[in-house]
Amino acid sequence: MKEILNFINGEYVSTGNWFDKFTPYDGRLIARVAEAGRAEVDAAVRAAREALHGPWSKLAVADRSELLYAVADEINRRFDDFVEAEITDMGQPEHFVRHVDVPRGAANFKVFADVVKNVPNEFFEMATPDGRGALNYSLRRPVGVVAVICPWNLPFLLMTWKLGPAMACGNTVVVKPSEETPQAAALLGEVMNKVGIPKGVFNVVQGFGPDAAGEFLTTHPQVAAITFTGETRTGAAIMKAAADGARPVSLEMGGKNAAIVFADCDMDEAIAGTIRSTFANCGQVCLGTERIYVERPAFEEFVTRLKNAVEKMKPGAPTDPESGMGPLISQEHRNKVLSYYQKAVEEGATVVTGGGIPEMPDALKGGSWVQPTIWTGLPDTAAVVRDEIFGPCCHIAPFDTEEEVIRRANDNPYGLACAIWTSKLQRAHRVAAAIEAGIVWVNSWFLRDLRTPFGGAKQSGIGREGGVHSLEFYTELKNVCIKL
Ligand code: NAD
Repeated sequence: MKEILNFINGEYVSTGNWFDKFTPYDGRLIARVAEAGRAEVDAAVRAAREALHGPWSKLAVADRSELLYAVADEINRRFDDFVEAEITDMGQPEHFVRHVDVPRGAANFKVFADVVKNVPNEFFEMATPDGRGALNYSLRRPVGVVAVICPWNLPFLLMTWKLGPAMACGNTVVVKPSEETPQAAALLGEVMNKVGIPKGVFNVVQGFGPDAAGEFLTTHPQVAAITFTGETRTGAAIMKAAADGARPVSLEMGGKNAAIVFADCDMDEAIAGTIRSTFANCGQVCLGTERIYVERPAFEEFVTRLKNAVEKMKPGAPTDPESGMGPLISQEHRNKVLSYYQKAVEEGATVVTGGGIPEMPDALKGGSWVQPTIWTGLPDTAAVVRDEIFGPCCHIAPFDTEEEVIRRANDNPYGLACAIWTSKLQRAHRVAAAIEAGIVWVNSWFLRDLRTPFGGAKQSGIGREGGVHSLEFYTELKNVCIKL
């Protein structure tokens, strides 16, 4: 049986406690994972703290960046190993992992290596009463040991999105991957050792959240900052933990993202974009669309065309080239999604397509499969229109005016992303400006330039990362004032 271990101070560390890892697509037991207890978490944080002042801190920015380039190159050399880790952990179709997850994982190290090399520091000359004057300049310094708490939905991409900037800024890190997806983080330890990242700079502790590795890490007094991606209520618990010690948090949390489809849009593009935004990764993308508002004259056409496209999507195993969609991450998550499928019917939805469990071949019957599902006919107050479901499903509602749809799209506690489909330039700018979300796409979805700010409004997040914005979280900015 494969064993997935912790990675502490450059060494793989086992523990007496194991938990099982099953694949989401056939329910096969593929590994046992060594769960970190308080002692291992403490050892990882101490190693990270020690490394903060070791050779890592002596490296010039350009040399640190070179090392991060080497990390990215080594990930690319081990590309197939990372693909294997991701598909067996998460069950996404292999082509998605090959084209999005793993390449982005490598890019996250290069982009931030470039960012830190190219950020100018501030400099101000000032007058003083004695006429001699003074110079002010700023220095960026690492914040210290950063705890990186990761979700399961795009494990490698989302973990490296935090590791890249944290390490580029000279911090040391302790990563707690999701208990559902432990493999890529463990594999990354081999990469770090191979390219010569000093011991203790990168550490991994495996395990669960509350009263386990996650909580032991976020409450550890030597953790200087916490960066988190996951559900809003977990983020709130982490924020409370961070309040002891007044430590900064960067929180990327849940969403209930709207798409707004105007009748003047390019309908082919809107359908293709919505197929991706609602059903990619089996709907387990924080930026995914679960509420769609379509201008009334286009409503029937949109619903019919989306239904036809969805019914062509065939769920299948990750390595099946015909597979249009993978499974949900676990049986537990499937129970949650199916409870919403049931709730939709109870609340009076019209089920346009799906709503249940697909018929799968015998070899895949143990997986966490659900049908891609579309509903219409519910008010905006219905649970499936308000709550984040995180499954391959959406509700479609008609609207009549621009003002109305802006109000309805904004009437939700979350504010992560929105996709607007229109061919009218002024309307696109007007609506984009009025939507309460961290990211608005016009005639596209998931187009990401890693130099741009990323994060959520309202209950979807606190803080922005990406490009120079990441530096605000991962560095302390110090002003030096020199009297002349
Ligand atoms: P989750 O909140 O259940 O878990 C995330 C991580 O937090 C896991 O590693 C978990 O073990 C850990 N954790 C749980 N409780 C903890 C605690 N008390 N203390 C410390 N750590 C704790 O989220 P998930 O189910 O893994 O991921 C899905 C969620 O993530 C969805 O809500 C999705 O919208 C969100 N998400 C947001 C973004 C974004 O960028 N905004 C990106 C991806 C996913």
